Amino acid sequence: MSSTRSQASSSYAAFHQRSITQRDAFWAEQAGLIDWQTPPRQICDYSKPPFAKWFVGGTTNLCHNAVDRHLKDRAQQPALIAVSTETGREQVYTFADLHLEVQRMAAALLSLGVTQGDRVLIYMPMIPEAVFAMLACARIGAIHSVVFGGFASGSLATRIDDAEPKVIVSADAGSRGGKVTAYKPLLDEALRQSRHQPASVLLVDRQLAPMPLVPGRDQLWSALREQHLYTPVPVVWVDATHTSYTLYTSGTTGKPKGVQRDTGGYAVALAASMKYIYEGQAGETYFSTSDIGWVVGHSYIVYGPLIAGMATILYEGLPIRGMDGQPDPGIWWRLVEKYKVTRMFSAPTAVRVLKKQDPVYLKRHDLSSLKALYLAGEPLDEPTAQWISDALHVPIIDNYWQTETGWPILSIANGVEKTPGKFGSPGVPMYGYDVKLISESTGEELTGPDQKGVLAIEGPLPPGCMQTVWRDDARFVNTYWKSIPGRLIYSTFDWGVRDQDGYFFILGRTDDVINVAGHRLGTREIEECIASHTNVAEVAVVGVADALKGQVALAFVVARDASGLGEAQARLRFEGELMQVVDRQLGAVARPSRVLLVQLLPKTRSGKLLRRALQAVAEGRDPGDLTTLDDPGALQQVRELLAGKS
Ligand code: ATP
Ligand code: MG
Repeated sequence: MSSTRSQASSSYAAFHQRSITQRDAFWAEQAGLIDWQTPPRQICDYSKPPFAKWFVGGTTNLCHNAVDRHLKDRAQQPALIAVSTETGREQVYTFADLHLEVQRMAAALLSLGVTQGDRVLIYMPMIPEAVFAMLACARIGAIHSVVFGGFASGSLATRIDDAEPKVIVSADAGSRGGKVTAYKPLLDEALRQSRHQPASVLLVDRQLAPMPLVPGRDQLWSALREQHLYTPVPVVWVDATHTSYTLYTSGTTGKPKGVQRDTGGYAVALAASMKYIYEGQAGETYFSTSDIGWVVGHSYIVYGPLIAGMATILYEGLPIRGMDGQPDPGIWWRLVEKYKVTRMFSAPTAVRVLKKQDPVYLKRHDLSSLKALYLAGEPLDEPTAQWISDALHVPIIDNYWQTETGWPILSIANGVEKTPGKFGSPGVPMYGYDVKLISESTGEELTGPDQKGVLAIEGPLPPGCMQTVWRDDARFVNTYWKSIPGRLIYSTFDWGVRDQDGYFFILGRTDDVINVAGHRLGTREIEECIASHTNVAEVAVVGVADALKGQVALAFVVARDASGLGEAQARLRFEGELMQVVDRQLGAVARPSRVLLVQLLPKTRSGKLLRRALQAVAEGRDPGDLTTLDDPGALQQVRELLAGKS
């Protein structure tokens, strides 16, 4: 592996500047971080904006870069560490083992007729076979479409019709907190609902739930694996622009979009991010607590760490339950200690879960291997960041990005230059991203400090970002590039502000901006403010239509300790305190019209607050597509509360 050190690495600003002004030279250097069968002829073809083609003429393979490439130097080192606190299984696969298992899976897929460009839908729990299947697809040039395990039949059916897979890879069941969910009946029901039918369904039997097979269609992985124990499957070299996978966004704001990703640009982007942002060293262990159903799982459980030659931990289970099924809020730290994790990636939501536990669990383990914790997916509030920072004594690095981009837009690139972070800010634009703040009303660029605007990215999007919306170029152009009148620029649909030092702060989604009597307020600003009260565990603020003021803010609050809030009197006092905090920090205009105490907030399966659902319920509207809602009970409680109070 050759890597060219940039002369500009003494200063991150210069590094970033060069990535924009000398784009092709910059990315040509980064291309050296991966293996190519044929080197690219052209670095970026942006002749048909906003469609960007990266590393044109080059041929490579994601699986080769993630697995085969490491056999020379680290065949016997751990590559995949699969830990399930649901089944008590813990398996370590070296790069050599992984190479074998992936070929077995690839041979099984080939035997089922899968060829280059065919889609394979993966509907799996967090088990090693799911990773084998992803890598096997990449190996033979098939396009994978991972659908979050346990999604309801309806959501699965829509995604089956969208991807039209030749094969579906699935399992008998998944398990969460000891509760088994049988996947096979969900899949069978989805296939009854879907227009498209796959030629075969390849099933892993974990013996967790009964799994009747449909003759002629359903195949057992154990049987096919046995047949292909020693079938070598060579890597298929594909064009850099070949689609490696499609993946749906979280559906926080509406109908999920099928993000289509390339091969060469993605491999280079991940290799570069592992070096400059995550600073992963080959031979070390990376632990991302995400799920393979989400983009973080694709980029930073599977491909990123493996491309960097690191071992990656695949974790099935809750953060608060041990291998024996008993409560253990120290389980993640136990794994950090055992596998000498150097880089850990999680979400603020998970940290808030841990924050509710006794801190003694953190102190019980030797965490000296850990060098940094990266958090992404939603705003990282200051109290949560402060708590975990005090507990771990390592840098806490917030990073802001989207399914669409595949890797961070905003973060801190300590691998280029050690830079201090700021609480509440995900940092500065990452190299390759020409980030702008745009005024929503005039479409003009806001260049001054502390001006609020829509976070937008000037094209071309850097390598690794979405190529288009799967089978819907028009939706790609119209949704992402035409929302700002008069110019072709990528909108993140997030609302932000930049301070005088160039650090960005995300204020919320553009849909979440509240307009109270002509004042535009980000819901995030109000939430941050309320969250600073010591008895607030979680809070969601939404704007609700109001005849007088246009909109008013409504705050839904989960108390850290609700035991003293049983009496109406005490609740009123608490609400009053929260209002005062807002008055003091933001002014009376931002004060929520009501504060509602709830036990649970509605979230997507990936832990994102479903504000649009709260807003719809509060306005008495249909909450829309709820396929990714985690616990329907959360919304039901809100409905009852609003009905009872109003
Ligand atoms: P959909 O696009 O289907 O509505 P989604 O936007 O939640 O769903 P993702 O791509 O998983 O789907 O999430 C990206 C979004 O998450 C960002 O646009 C931003 O709103 C939010 N986000 C991610 N990371 C951060 C962060 N570090 N700080 C603040 N917000 C973040
Ligand atoms: Mg989004």
